[in-house]
Order: sequence, then structure tokens, then C-alpha cells
Amino acid sequence: MDLFGLIGNPVGHSLSPPMHEAAYDELGLDARYLTFEPDPENLERAIDGAQALGIRGLNVTIPFKQDVLALESVAADDLATRIGAVNTIDFTGQEITGHNTDAIGVLRALRDHDVQLEGATAVLVGAGGAGRAVAFGLADAGATVHIANRTASKAEELATAVPNARGYELEAVSDLLPEADVLVNATSVGMETDVSPVPAEALHDELAVMDAVYRPLETRLLREAAAAGATTVDGAWMLLYQGVEALELWTGESAPVSRMDEALRSRL
Ligand code: NAP
Repeated sequence: MDLFGLIGNPVGHSLSPPMHEAAYDELGLDARYLTFEPDPENLERAIDGAQALGIRGLNVTIPFKQDVLALESVAADDLATRIGAVNTIDFTGQEITGHNTDAIGVLRALRDHDVQLEGATAVLVGAGGAGRAVAFGLADAGATVHIANRTASKAEELATAVPNARGYELEAVSDLLPEADVLVNATSVGMETDVSPVPAEALHDELAVMDAVYRPLETRLLREAAAAGATTVDGAWMLLYQGVEALELWTGESAPVSRMDEALRSRL
């Protein structure tokens, strides 16, 4: 039996086990996806131990994404290094490698909704962990990225590392959106209360609006975007495709996307 899993703390709420196990079922793989919550001081030993036990792959979540990047035993790829976080560890090769599938997850989610990024103007709200992955993903796909964040200095700092990017204070979104093709919310705004990080009046029907927030699935931002005639992409798409990418990396199989999507959405 092949073993995969998720390492983080806490991981009890994670939707990754049912999503991955639905895929194993569909693909006829004899595999399980488990969750692990090591104490931070045991992280390195946990990763090395996972390799020694023959675990094939681990996803990484809060609070370990940055810490894994710093481990000597994990060779992080270029994208994960630029983003500054590893969310997928691959044990199937000679060495332990670290990857970040959040960025490509966003791109696949947008591509699935026919959103063109090459030459597009994107407004990204948020410059935390998710924001960093989205920023590099959008830029690598050929978009110009305007990053607006409550703490403007974090947006400006991120923009210096991302090609074709500029940082702004959050209030700048109203001036940036009329010229934008894509808007991504990578803040946690909308998660616990029914608020949007963007004024509804700034949304328009030529925008594609993606929200990284997936609880609730229909955030106020997405409701207001739909009312303005924009294309909307909810946060489950990003979650789905980061998992699809990890599964394809570990198994070499083409992921059964609709089965994974069904397993995910039935639990949201
Ligand atoms: P994080 O690193 O803590 O960053 C939080 C971001 O939200 C920062 O930019 C922060 O701004 C901003 N923010 C928080 N409260 C705010 C407020 N009241 N007003 C304006 N901005 C505010 O968190 P993260 O890991 O990036 O996660 C952000 C969201 O993305 C969460 O909802 C998470 O669930 C979601 N997410 C989804 C996926 C997915 O697959 N769909 C993946 C990862 C994350 P400051 O810098 O000013 O504090």
C-alpha cells in the first residue's frame, strides 16, 4: 500500500484526505492519505522519518510551509523557493524534493474558467502566504500584477520579488479595478464575517474574480462580483487544483479531477 499524507498543526479539519482518497479509489490505487501533527521541534525528524518509512508524498500546511523550505534534507524547487513556502514534499525520487502547488493550482482554476492571463492586468488583494503563491503564479503566466494589502509595506516588498508587479495600499483597489481583467482575493476577509475586501461599486462585467476563501464557498465578494456580471471562481477550485497537482506529481497519473471535486464540494 502507498502512503501519502498531510503534515501541519492542526490538520483535523482538512479536506485533503477525502479528496485524495476519492482519487485513489477512482484510479484503483492501493493507497491511503493520512494526517500528521508533529510538534514544531520534531519537524525535521518527522520528514526524515516519513522518508525512512516509505511514505511517498506529504502535503504541508500551516505552520510548517516556510519551515520545510529551510530544511537541509528537502531540496526545494525554484518556484517554492521564490514563493518562500513548500506545500508538497515528494519522496518518490532519489532525494526529498519540495514544491509549491498553490500557484499552479490558481492558474489551473482560472484556466478552467477560460480566464486568459497572458498580457492580462491582475489585481491581487493580500500579501500573506496565499497571496505570495498567487502573485508568482499570475506573473509566471504573463500577467501584470497589482498587489494591494492592508499592510502596504508587505505588498511593496512582495512586488519587488515578483516580475511585472507593483505594491499598493488596500484602498488603491478602487482605482486599479476599472482597468483590470482579473481580481484575486487572497486575504482572509470574508471567511468569518460577511464582508468583502473590495467595494462592490468597483466590480464590473469584464472582470474574472477569484476568491481563495472557501469557507463559505459563496463569499460576499463573489456574490457582488456575480451581481456585477463578472466571471466568478470560488476558493474550492484552488484547493482542488493544488491537490490535483500534488497527486499527479506523486503518482505520475492523470488525476480524476471531477471525482476529487465532488469529494471536496460535498464536504463544504
Ligand atoms: P495569512 O498569511 O495570514 O495572510 C492573511 C492576509 O489577509 C494578509 O494579506 C492580511 O493583511 C490580510 N488580512 C487579514 N485580515 C484582514 C482585514 N481585516 N482586512 C484586510 N486584510 C486583511 O493567511 P493565508 O495563508 O495567506 O490565507 C489567506 C486566505 O486564503 C485564508 O482565508 C485561507 O483560508 C485562504 N487560502 C485558501 C487556499 C485555497 O486553496 N483555496 C489556500 C491557502 C489559503 P496584512 O498583511 O495587513 O495582515
